[in-house]
Amino acid sequence: MIGKADVVEFEPDGTPYPVEYKHGTRRKAGFIAACDELQLAAQALCLEEMTGRHVAEGALFYASSKRRRIVAITPALRAGVEQAVAGVRTLLAEGRLPPPVNGERCRACSLVDLCQPQALAAHDAQIELRRHLFDPED
Ligand code: SF4
Repeated sequence: MIGKADVVEFEPDGTPYPVEYKHGTRRKAGFIAACDELQLAAQALCLEEMTGRHVAEGALFYASSKRRRIVAITPALRAGVEQAVAGVRTLLAEGRLPPPVNGERCRACSLVDLCQPQALAAHDAQIELRRHLFDPED
């Protein structure tokens, strides 16, 4: 994994403490909050590898509420990161991209301008309409 962290603070003993900045407030839908935690945990694992120090926790900072939410980097989160990495490796090996979700999480996604999930959804709808356009049974 590679990436650029928003902020990395350092404890007095040199232990890194990742802080990930997010849009919105701390009151996010559970499945979106879980993605934020997974990203933070991935940063923690990278920082552990870089520094050789155990990273036990980090924080998500929400821009709208200007509040931090402390996140423990648990074994379950670490396993989730490993699972996500394995999933991405499989996609890369197979040379395919997952389809866009075009859902609630897209609204706050930093990739939405590049990904354009609504355009693809509209394209799929057009293909479906075209399939039935000249079908007299429809
Ligand atoms: S905008 Fe694209 S990359 Fe972002 S969440 Fe939606 S489908 Fe995924």
